[in-house]
Amino acid sequence: MTTTTHSATTPAVLELRNIRVGYRRRRKDPLFWALDDVTLTVTRGRTMGLIGESGSGKSTLAKVILGLAPVHSGSVTLLDRDITGISAAQRRTLGRTLQAVFQDPNTSLNPSYTIGRSLAEPMRAQGIRSKEQINKRTAVMLQDVNLDPAAAKKYPRQFSGGQRQRISIARALMTEPQMVICDEAVSALDLSVQAQILNLLSDLQDEHQLSYLFISHDMSVVRHLCHDVTVLYQGQVMESGPTHLVSQAPAHPYTRTLLLAAPIADPTVQRQRRTARVAPASGTSATPTPAVSTGCPFAPRCPFAIATCWDTRPELRTLPDGRAVACHRYPEWQQEAPPAPTTPAPALTPVTPTSVPLSHTIRETSYTAMSSGETNTKETEI
Ligand code: ADP
Ligand code: MG
Repeated sequence: MTTTTHSATTPAVLELRNIRVGYRRRRKDPLFWALDDVTLTVTRGRTMGLIGESGSGKSTLAKVILGLAPVHSGSVTLLDRDITGISAAQRRTLGRTLQAVFQDPNTSLNPSYTIGRSLAEPMRAQGIRSKEQINKRTAVMLQDVNLDPAAAKKYPRQFSGGQRQRISIARALMTEPQMVICDEAVSALDLSVQAQILNLLSDLQDEHQLSYLFISHDMSVVRHLCHDVTVLYQGQVMESGPTHLVSQAPAHPYTRTLLLAAPIADPTVQRQRRTARVAPASGTSATPTPAVSTGCPFAPRCPFAIATCWDTRPELRTLPDGRAVACHRYPEWQQEAPPAPTTPAPALTPVTPTSVPLSHTIRETSYTAMSSGETNTKETEI
């Protein structure tokens, strides 16, 4: 498989090479590839988005990096160290470099622990015992996520969903990691709170030169935060490259489907988009099936598919603009596609190489304007 190097100038923090993970639905069922030959690189101080519908293998990829999923083949390299299949003891030391934030803050915040105790845990796991050092770092981190250090004495139930996610982020950063995996970290939050958390993540990235792997099913969120994006379908990479290129002129029909599915405030545009959308064939989904298919996994849903697409799996090939796409019909399909309606003013300004730092481009006002029109005020105070 062709590999992509979108940011050859910045050092790689995390590299996944040709990762394959096989699962069985039931014990006697045949294996299916939840991840099939996935390669991606996250560089210093940048955000790689990982997008795909539910069941496409995103969380499995996060688990591979965290050592929680069985890797059939391929490698994971973190700061030039091969961490594929390392022992649990060796993995514990990675906590200084690698941390994760999940959709549900309860994953990292034990409801019966004070916030201070939950925040102390990652440091204790690294052998740091000094109460003074831990308390000092806890106060700094709570302030970093715009919370009062007095929060350390309280319990998770005393905070809103947005505040709890801020606390989860503070906890993930306690050990000053360089690489943070965010798996649907804003998906459970109201739109206005999502915007605040995205702003916070990009501010923290600027401040600490953090690298993120940002997993989401929502293209508008990915477009907003991520410098680069990898599009996953049935465990395979369909397209990857700088987000502004991928979102402005998708090279894969599946990416176009995702873009057309992202919500937009204008009902006229929304209606026009429905007619331009690729209709899924019945019985197909983003989840891989064991049914042996030698062709492109998207062929059953793709209106541009030809016989080759059903027979032969397309190689992920690098394009002159630095992108990579796995599509036999690229670029011809773009001529055949019904025109996608233009959006009046995409309020979620896509990240361009020149628009970094992100904190200046991602502001709540623009974000809420873009989202499906319903500005939720339930949890604005965080
Ligand atoms: P996503 O995060 O993109 O929604 P997942 O990575 O959670 O997708 O799942 C990818 C596919 O792998 C799904 O079909 C899911 O049912 C399957 N899967 C995930 N974990 C397991 C497991 N432990 N055993 C068997 N199948 C699994
Ligand atoms: Mg998931």
